Parts: sequence; C-alpha cells; structure tokens
Amino acid sequence: MAKIDIKDMLTNYDKKDLTIATVCSHSSLQIFNGAKKEGFNTLGIAVGEKRKFYDAFPLGKPDEFLIVKNYKDILKHTKELQEKNVIVIPHGSFVEYLGAEKFMSLNLPTFGNRNVLMWESDRDKERTWLEGAGLIMPKEIQDPHYIEKPVIVKYHGAKGGKGFFIAKTYEEFKKRVNNRKKYSIQEFVMGTRYYLHYFFSPIQKNGYKLKKGSIQLLSMDRRDETTIDEVQRLGSIAELEELGIHPTFVVTGNIPIVMRESLLPKVFDMGEAVVKKSIDLFGGIIGSFCLETVVTEELEFKVFEISARIVAGTNPYIAGSPYSELIQPDLSTGRRIAQEIKYASEKNLLEEIVT
Ligand code: AMP
Repeated sequence: MAKIDIKDMLTNYDKKDLTIATVCSHSSLQIFNGAKKEGFNTLGIAVGEKRKFYDAFPLGKPDEFLIVKNYKDILKHTKELQEKNVIVIPHGSFVEYLGAEKFMSLNLPTFGNRNVLMWESDRDKERTWLEGAGLIMPKEIQDPHYIEKPVIVKYHGAKGGKGFFIAKTYEEFKKRVNNRKKYSIQEFVMGTRYYLHYFFSPIQKNGYKLKKGSIQLLSMDRRDETTIDEVQRLGSIAELEELGIHPTFVVTGNIPIVMRESLLPKVFDMGEAVVKKSIDLFGGIIGSFCLETVVTEELEFKVFEISARIVAGTNPYIAGSPYSELIQPDLSTGRRIAQEIKYASEKNLLEEIVT
C-alpha cells in the first residue's frame, strides 16, 4: 500500500531540493554529516526542546529541527514534511519510538524496504530468513529441562539486550526466568563477536557484484555491553553469581574492530546469501544491514541476529573505516546512504530504494 502512495508522492517531489530527515538520536549525527557532505538539506525530528548538544557538533547538526510533543505526532506533520521533499532515514531508535505500526503507515518516502520489519522483529521469521539463506544460527532450546550447556535467554521485543540472562542449568533458568514474558533460549556461543556493517545497493554495480546490484562492507564493530564486558574486573561471573550479582547485556557504546583478512570471503558469502533470500521472501532488503555474529575457534560464523538498517555500531566511522577507506576516503554509512539517494534521484530510480 505504502509503495503506491510513495510513488505518486515522489512524482511531485523537487528532486533537486531533497531533504534528508531522521529522528535526533542513535546515528543521527552521522546521517546528517553524511547528507551534508553530499549536498542535501537536513532536518532533525526531536521531542520537546531542541537538542542543545547538536550545537557542539556543527558538522553533524541538521539545518533545521521539527519539534514534536511525542514521536507519534510525526504522523501529523507528514504534509509539511512532504513539502520539504523529505526522505526519511530510519534507524533503530526511529522505529522503536514511533512503533512498528505507525512506522509502517508513515506516509513519507522512507529509505529501505519497510517490509523487512516483520522479518527481523519476529524471532521465528528471522530464523526462517537467515537459516533459509544457509547461515548458521545458535541452536534454539525448546524445553528448558534440556539445558546442558550455557544458554542465553532472550525476551522477545526487549531492546538493547535488556533482561537477557545466562543460565547453565535448568535450576538457574527457573530461578531467573520471568514467565510472564515471551522468551527464547539459545545456545550461548563461545567465541568473539563481530557486528558486520553491509550496504546493499539494488541499483549500482560498484561493489561485490550480485545478479542484481552489489554489496559493500563498510565497517564492523563490537558492542560494548554493560555489565558483561567488564564484570571480570570484579571477579569471575561464577563467583559473582554466587553473590547474586548477574551480568547484563545493556548496550552502552561501540568499539571499532577489524577481522583477519582470510575471513572476508565468508563475510561476503553471508551478505550475498542474506540479500538473495530477502528477495525471495519479501522483495529484498535495501541499503544498510548488519549481521551480528560470533566467530568460533573453528573460525565458523554463527549469526545470532540481523538489523536491517543503519546500526549505531557504524558511529565510530564518521570519517571512514579501514574497509570504507578502500572504497572511498571519508565514507561513513550515513554518507553512503546519502550517495545512494543522490544517485537514485539523478537516474530517476528513487522508487527502487525507498518504500
Ligand atoms: P541481541 O539482542 O540478540 O543482539 O543480543 C544481545 C547481546 O547478547 C549480543 O550483543 C551478544 O553480546 C549477546 N548474545 C546474543 N546471542 C548470543 C549467543 N547466542 N551467544 C553468545 N552471546 C550472545
């Protein structure tokens, strides 16, 4: 439904005067910075007062703000935003604050394929997609009585790893689980974590070529999660758990990282497979996506999640990453998104990359 409206809307847009807009949070400094570098107008949507801290970062500050009472009110401003030829760049906080339903019905051209949302937000569908693409995911434990090795218990819809916990036995699981919430139990994969930032262009052939379009690897990061990542400063997890102190997985930041070069072919194989499967399942992912992986000591990737838009892990790379430097100096994911919009609008292909 959105597609038809958006197509009509785009015909009325002044393609020479586009505005890139997003919600002021998450990766917005990077998105605005990238859009400015590519010559776009920029607009930041903020709740309540104008975000003062943007004054401290003039190159990441949007040209103008739209101040709303709450994020749901964005829908009341669509006409005014259309008049500014706005293209929305969704990020994780944008979708979370607006809510899935309102995000899906937002009557503005939105970078990426909005239909991906139901495939990444439902853990069963996500598994169908990623395993269908041939990726290896951590094993799912259906019955907690069968916990024999460490598992991670994840609550559905929990943001930023909130409430997740590790259990090594059924007894530990029983003690900690909140049965009122929907959860899944996953093998805790031993290894090192890499969060891989891809960009798929369905309209350009300037990267790792696929049948249609191409993939770039722009960067990778490791999330910094409190308290799990530094808890060892106080003692081993086992020791602390005996004292009733349990590690948590709340994301507080992101750390830049690179991986051994010999693993890169696998990284591209996985990216290609995920894109191909997405085309079969829902018409295809567009633009940025991130595979969240653990590399085991057998050098095997286990993928525990996909994020189908710009992730905050790209923020360390506003001035480029060790990978994007090999594509173009000074290329962030935010800038790459702006370039895609610029290319599409010049070639009259915008409807291929927005929904
Ligand atoms: P998620 O919400 O699925 O991204 O998980 C939050 C965090 O929990 C991740 O960033 C990892 O640090 C950790 N994690 C998730 N799944 C696993 C797993 N199967 N094995 C080990 N660690 C995991």
